[in-house]
Amino acid sequence: MRHLRSIDDVTADDIATIMATATEMHDVQSRQVKKLPALRGRTVINLFFEDSTRTRSSFEIAGKWLSADVINLSAKGSSASKGESLRDTALTVTAMGIDGLVVRHSASGAAHQISGWVDVPVINAGDGTHEHPTQALLDCYTLQRALGDLAGRRVAIVGDLTHSRVFRSNLACLTRLGAQVVGVAPPTLMPAGVGPWSGTDGFEVSNDLDAVLPTVDAVMMLRVQRERMSGGFFPTGREYTVEYGLTRTRLARLGERTPILHPGPMNRGLEISPEAADAASSRVLDQVSAGVAVRMSVLYHLLAGEEA
Ligand code: ASP
Repeated sequence: MRHLRSIDDVTADDIATIMATATEMHDVQSRQVKKLPALRGRTVINLFFEDSTRTRSSFEIAGKWLSADVINLSAKGSSASKGESLRDTALTVTAMGIDGLVVRHSASGAAHQISGWVDVPVINAGDGTHEHPTQALLDCYTLQRALGDLAGRRVAIVGDLTHSRVFRSNLACLTRLGAQVVGVAPPTLMPAGVGPWSGTDGFEVSNDLDAVLPTVDAVMMLRVQRERMSGGFFPTGREYTVEYGLTRTRLARLGERTPILHPGPMNRGLEISPEAADAASSRVLDQVSAGVAVRMSVLYHLLAGEEA
């Protein structure tokens, strides 16, 4: 594993290794002194061309807890806002002698492109509507802690599938771990051409959330990504909630112990009700906590391994 640009960069064995290391890294969070020397002397740049709360701060914390030097660069405030090309920005920051690049960009494929220009490991922290591999790894880590082995488990991923990089990475990661995925969305938010994927390799689709919920072991709600929508994908927010929201009524019908996930940021009252977001079965904050451990593990394996 040289880069983590998509889940295609990791085998099932790699995922198992990342999870095992993440479990060890997770213990660091509860220590008083949260420092391991593993990446001492290494420098990581977080290059973020899109907004982020969880992902950027958890990559920063993860790097710092491994004793790396971490620098955050965002498009606002960097020369990208003066018209510098992505290639020039990537080459400029790597020319400073850094050891790893974490990239978020609104263009699908940006991380792949950058990995062809630079000679350090590139980690994709979200590229357009393509992938967000560390999110999928932390989601699967969270699900494994809640459910054990995911082989044969059935997970619903619900909502704005068309615009969701979280969906694409999770579909790949969950099926690689032997889970079955049901993608639930209104027809207008179901990715074009998804038909042929359906029914193969543990993936199916549905437009009927109420029919799917009683059949699943876990439910992952996705944010309605208005910033990526160019038109009206549903009549009103209210209508979306009635058909596809994890409302209080649906929560009551869901098994009390069925884990509820959401990658954040949540639109409370739209795709998820406050009751579901704050339910005892909600794993949303576990996901955030797992995010640091999993990103520590990924940084460790990419930067401290044989290839570093
Ligand atoms: N935080 C996730 C992402 O960057 C999910 C979302 O924004 O809806 O893709």
